[in-house]
Amino acid sequence: MTTICLGIEGTAHSFGAGIVTEDGEVLSNVWDMLSPAEGGIHPREASRHHADLGPEIIKTAMESAGIEFRDIDIVAFSRGPGLGPCLRTTATIARVLSLKLGVPLVGVNHCVAHIEIGCLESGFVDPVTVYVSGGNTQVIAFAGGRFRTFGETLDIAVGNMLDVLGRSLGMGFPAGPAIEREALKGTRYLPLPYSVKGMDLSYSGILTSARRLYDEGNSVQDISFSVQETAFGMLGEIAERALAHTKKKELLLTGGVARNNRLAELLEGVSERHGVVFHRVSPPLAGDQGAMIAWNGILSHRSGNHLEVRDSHVLPRWRTDEQDIDWRS
Ligand code: AMP
Ligand code: MG
Repeated sequence: MTTICLGIEGTAHSFGAGIVTEDGEVLSNVWDMLSPAEGGIHPREASRHHADLGPEIIKTAMESAGIEFRDIDIVAFSRGPGLGPCLRTTATIARVLSLKLGVPLVGVNHCVAHIEIGCLESGFVDPVTVYVSGGNTQVIAFAGGRFRTFGETLDIAVGNMLDVLGRSLGMGFPAGPAIEREALKGTRYLPLPYSVKGMDLSYSGILTSARRLYDEGNSVQDISFSVQETAFGMLGEIAERALAHTKKKELLLTGGVARNNRLAELLEGVSERHGVVFHRVSPPLAGDQGAMIAWNGILSHRSGNHLEVRDSHVLPRWRTDEQDIDWRS
């Protein structure tokens, strides 16, 4: 019998359960995202969402994988980074399952999981990764036993910028898809602060300026177009520099914002200019979900990592480069 891992994700607004085998076969991947009617996400509301729906989501994932609880060999959970209340609820569910089933508990770094699921899907061995989501914006590459953050946002994540801007423009949550649709109808580029500082980015200036452009009467279409060109152009620039610097031959786009066609097109252009292979993680594996946690659980467990329940506290500020990646060393 092959080893089976149940992965539980719950760092922010989404709760997910995924079931993956040691060969990297995704047997199921079920999630639900809290979408508040208005306003942003409150950590406590999100954690209540996870507590309310978590058990049902896990049950659905098991049914759709066609397995029973006794078939699970490992329980993995998103240990960080993320919102404290969400992480604690998720960890509690994982601990209970691990104790009840008598199987190892593995804590997974959410950002690393986004990279590894992308590598599983693409067959990439050692990519430069552009990880863009509601909570994170990083360009990452493996060096010296860890995933090093080569560049990142100095303030808000690109997905968060799109969501907050979208709220001002009268769009629902999440606003990324609506901004992408409106951008296709934009015809005028309105100047916005293009803010790259070394390898780092800043998105708060774009948010402020785009809101002002809206107050001044510019169209949502032109604003969406201009925001995408500026925000994604900045990502293209640092991805390009990371490729030139590391000489790696693969470029991976992952995270919820990877669903954006314009961003993918731009990075594909960068890849062609540098003669590297490009992969964009497919929509079901791009956002926050449990399959990536399960796959990372398999990798991590394989190199001997597991947690005792008493040591399994969550790590809200766990950085991508704070973990030794034993399975790659
Ligand atoms: P995640 O945090 O990984 O679950 O991803 C959610 C984020 O992805 C939210 O900020 C969304 O606005 C963003 N997103 C989803 N689809 C798109 C899209 N087509 N274009 C831009 N952003 C998107
Ligand atoms: Mg994420």
